Amino acid sequence: MPKSLDDYLDRELGALRDQGLFRTLRILDGPQGARATIDGQTVINLSANNYLGLNTHPALCAAAIRAIEALGVGSGAVRTIIGTMAIHEELERKLAAFKHTEASLVFQSGFTANAGVIGPLLTEQDLVISDELNHASIIDGIRLTKADRRVYAHCDVASLEAVLRETQGRYAKTLIITDGVFSMDGDIAPLDRIAELAERYGAITMVDDAHASGVLGDHGSGTVSHFKLHGRWDIQVGTLSKAIGAIGGYVACSARLRQLMEHRARPLLFSTSHPPSVTATCIAALDLLQSAEGEALIDRLWQNTRLFKRGLEALGFNTGISQTPITPVIVGEGARAMELSDRLFAAGVFAQGIAYPTVARDKGRVRTIVTAAHTPEDLHEALNVFEHVGRQMRLI
Ligand SMILES: *Cc1c(COP(=O)(O)O)cnc(C)c1O
Repeated sequence: MPKSLDDYLDRELGALRDQGLFRTLRILDGPQGARATIDGQTVINLSANNYLGLNTHPALCAAAIRAIEALGVGSGAVRTIIGTMAIHEELERKLAAFKHTEASLVFQSGFTANAGVIGPLLTEQDLVISDELNHASIIDGIRLTKADRRVYAHCDVASLEAVLRETQGRYAKTLIITDGVFSMDGDIAPLDRIAELAERYGAITMVDDAHASGVLGDHGSGTVSHFKLHGRWDIQVGTLSKAIGAIGGYVACSARLRQLMEHRARPLLFSTSHPPSVTATCIAALDLLQSAEGEALIDRLWQNTRLFKRGLEALGFNTGISQTPITPVIVGEGARAMELSDRLFAAGVFAQGIAYPTVARDKGRVRTIVTAAHTPEDLHEALNVFEHVGRQMRLI
């Protein structure tokens, strides 16, 4: 048996090496900052989802330490047995208020939130319609159901309507799912037009705002707020792992959907709830988002976004269709994207290279994410490195 396992592993790893896809994990030494020490080299970090710089914020760290001192380091059970602490419910009340919904339910991660919500919603009599570029956790969540599935062209409401028209009357329920902000291109889903179609065809709407929460909308409350769709949108998934700075995911929804998930959401039933320190951190982050300091951080995030995006465009790079702090630099072939990322790193900037199959074969890129923690000097220095390396590689 061990031999056949080793043979299998050698074959699979060899195939990855042959395709140029084999990689090792980069190691961060010290905190996740605007400048960070990665594989022993201190560089300007343009790859973290730490949009507001909250994962090292003193108020959040202090809240975590206080919670450990008062409540210990673990919850000791799944939510449905005895792992629901008062602090979990407090966070959920705050998240529901933040998202202007009746209720919310927190999961261990954004990934498990998607697995947790889609399953209880759909039966074999239902249809789910998903944007072709939706996140892997949505795709996996859908795979766990017996519902029929269809995909519509990316952010293309005509393509979505064609599916709705064709399938009208054939299913008990139809669920439309989209990312709010897409993680590879930084574009925003047209929630307003999706909501209109959903109303016309009687479909249920769900958005995954992992990259929009803390970034878009009133106090960073996400795309439903950005499009002023409160009351017209059914389900908002969010993560506590990106702008909020810690770890976790949640579903903001009606009280009834929360009740159903309490009975049927498998990650809630079969996996232990967050330690109190994580929950306290998230509460402190939500309080901060509502404060003047939170507003200033979001302003700073968008100022930095404009500065950096305009800088890249002025240099002549192809930054695609981004409308958010995620800005790709699209170079074509995957191997070129990896070369650009390596050269940037050697020159002091970390921007992850992304190639097929994560993006189309001719859309290889490095992806940059600016945060509120970057100073204008960090960003000007990074632009100088992009200019230098871009000319070396004849990209500009
Ligand atoms: C990052 C991401 C997730 C996963 O969130 P985690 O909290 O890191 O598990 C889910 N959906 C989308 C769209 C994401 O970008």
